[in-house]
Amino acid sequence: MTIATHPFDALMDITPRPHIVFARGEGSRLWDDTGKRYLDFIQGWAVNSLGHSPPVLIDALTAQAKRLITPSPAFYNDASLKLAAALIAHSAFDQVFFTSSGAEANEGAIKLARKFGALHRNGAYEIITFENSFHGRTLATMSASGKKAFEPLFEPKVPGFPKAITNDIASVERLIGANTIAVMLEPIQGESGVWPATPEFLQALRALTKEHGLLLIVDEIQTGMGRTGTLFNYEQASIAPDIMTLGKGIGGGAPLGALLATNHAAVFEHGDQGGTFNGNPLMCAAGLAVLTHIAEPAFLKSVRDHGLFLADELQRISARHGLGGVRGSGLLLALDLKRPIAAAVVAAALEDGLLLNAPRPDALRLMPALNVTRAEISQMIAMLDAILTRMGAARCVG
Ligand code: PLP
Repeated sequence: MTIATHPFDALMDITPRPHIVFARGEGSRLWDDTGKRYLDFIQGWAVNSLGHSPPVLIDALTAQAKRLITPSPAFYNDASLKLAAALIAHSAFDQVFFTSSGAEANEGAIKLARKFGALHRNGAYEIITFENSFHGRTLATMSASGKKAFEPLFEPKVPGFPKAITNDIASVERLIGANTIAVMLEPIQGESGVWPATPEFLQALRALTKEHGLLLIVDEIQTGMGRTGTLFNYEQASIAPDIMTLGKGIGGGAPLGALLATNHAAVFEHGDQGGTFNGNPLMCAAGLAVLTHIAEPAFLKSVRDHGLFLADELQRISARHGLGGVRGSGLLLALDLKRPIAAAVVAAALEDGLLLNAPRPDALRLMPALNVTRAEISQMIAMLDAILTRMGAARCVG
């Protein structure tokens, strides 16, 4: 038996983590095990749609846990049937496969497209993805991702993911060949720093994929479930994709993902897809509670309103401190800092009890709970303003 010298040492050291242990959360607040309070504008990386431990989620999980947790994916359960029906009713798709993470949903989308190619297009298997995209950390989804830092890792990669450039339809057209079966993209690239595809590009992509008989796959793991002010981001471009993947916000903090497809694209046959925890009622009950709440038109309007308020406030302090613009949609926003100070801002914010994210050296990403209040946004802005003022003063002294 090995005794870890420090409790942190028993966990694989896969990322630099501050030595803080979180103990409790409520709405937009988190507390660590020393009792220090934090205002959370990360929310598990755009996961806790309704904030930390919202009563609707606690009630749904508790009630379901008392009734049935996992009967096996080889049988139906009522929670997964209800959630699948609700997702279909609210989207452009006809069938759902539930997963436990976003990467697993994307892995399923890749397999579904390859199966479609095997059945309908002489074994075509290539899926055009995009530079700077992020689709997950399984081997196939890392291969599909256009993240530069992934390039040297875990070679050889899964082949068949040529990379195009977002908002450049000619770059997609150039890559289409006899082996192409699909195009896959995030409507807003989240992990690389909140870079939106324009509605015109998404419409052109839909037209181009239709013209060539290709599937259009939208990875809405970060942009979906109300995050950008509509239930799904593709709605804002008035397009109907063939396949969509969901994760993060769909479970409101519970590990749930989903692969959705139209009847035309849903070509899995028995034995092609599965997984022990897929569609388990505990997670699906969580998903149903979240969806029921966020699909309300008034709730989605409040996401748009709060998103506009947050964007305006960010613009205001950006002007005060000589920073750059605000990108994104709804409550998935980035502030361009115009200089590589994002890590220093995040560290200072943590010290002050504010959780922020720096997806790149010169940008902050804001992804609060979808039910964040105006008062919480104003408090975050005041804290960020104070940090930027301190840092500006330090620069002047330095
Ligand atoms: N796709 C997108 C757009 C994401 O933002 C993420 C996670 O950040 C993933 C896929 C992977 O999801 P998961 O971490 O749940 O596997």
